[in-house]
Amino acid sequence: MATAFIHHRDCELHDPGAQHPESPARIRAINDYLPTSGIWDRLVRHEAPLASREQLCRAHDENYIDVVFSAAPSEGYVYLDPDTCMSPHSLNAALRAAGSVIKGIDLVYTGEADNAFCSVRPCGHHAETRRAMGFCMFNNVAVGACYAKDRYAAKRIAIVDFDVHHGNGTEDIFRHDPSVLFCSTFQHPFYPGSGADTRSDHIVNVPLPAGTSGAQFRDAFEGEIVPALNDFAPELVLVSAGFDAHENDPLAQLRLREDDYEWVTRRIREVADNSAQGRLVSVLEGGYSIASLGSCVEAHLKAML
Ligand SMILES: [Zn+2]
Repeated sequence: MATAFIHHRDCELHDPGAQHPESPARIRAINDYLPTSGIWDRLVRHEAPLASREQLCRAHDENYIDVVFSAAPSEGYVYLDPDTCMSPHSLNAALRAAGSVIKGIDLVYTGEADNAFCSVRPCGHHAETRRAMGFCMFNNVAVGACYAKDRYAAKRIAIVDFDVHHGNGTEDIFRHDPSVLFCSTFQHPFYPGSGADTRSDHIVNVPLPAGTSGAQFRDAFEGEIVPALNDFAPELVLVSAGFDAHENDPLAQLRLREDDYEWVTRRIREVADNSAQGRLVSVLEGGYSIASLGSCVEAHLKAML
């Protein structure tokens, strides 16, 4: 039994411009740190394939996909929104990032892996049905969920998003789809401003004020998200694993530490073990402290192993 680690060198080549916080150094921080940890040899490494147009179309509007493909520059930079920039390698990186979740889903459904972590960029959870946003081109976790429904006839999929920013894109894509339970903890008020007012029986948003500690985060997760997950009894659990709620993160003001990420991953894994035969696929979202990202991912993986 194994935990898969899915990555691709193309994800390091996506260059959103100098000084951009979503930098190639993020992936290098993970890839440099993990081999020094005790868990590297226990991970089974796989390359991320390119997502196909058909796979993207299940989560995104076709016209939007055309916009992204035709915007991809052969030199220089093109901005899809004020924060989301494409350079010559960006389209391939985005296709690998979406493809990584598809690979993870194949691995857990075929039994080749118990669970999988996708160490990829650009991130995805701000990308809406027809809009790039907040460093995200394609919504990686949503592309994966749509694939699982189509390929494996998954009837109940839970997406847990503990990135410090609300996963507005994922919410947008599954707003009218009760087969997907979307649970998001996020700093509020904060970018992108959404989430706190959404009311739905399959969307559980948990806004947290700036300064929230790990203990307060755990109370909120245990009180609001765990019961919703248990009631839903998902057949597949997907995680939007952003590590920007960490106390060292330069973009946000929550105060989580590595042991909080290990704790929350264990709680999510228990849900997967109870109802989904352990099937859990996690994909990297944010996390901008280069010094802390590697140890955060290690804590996450420890709980998955
Ligand atoms: Zn984030």
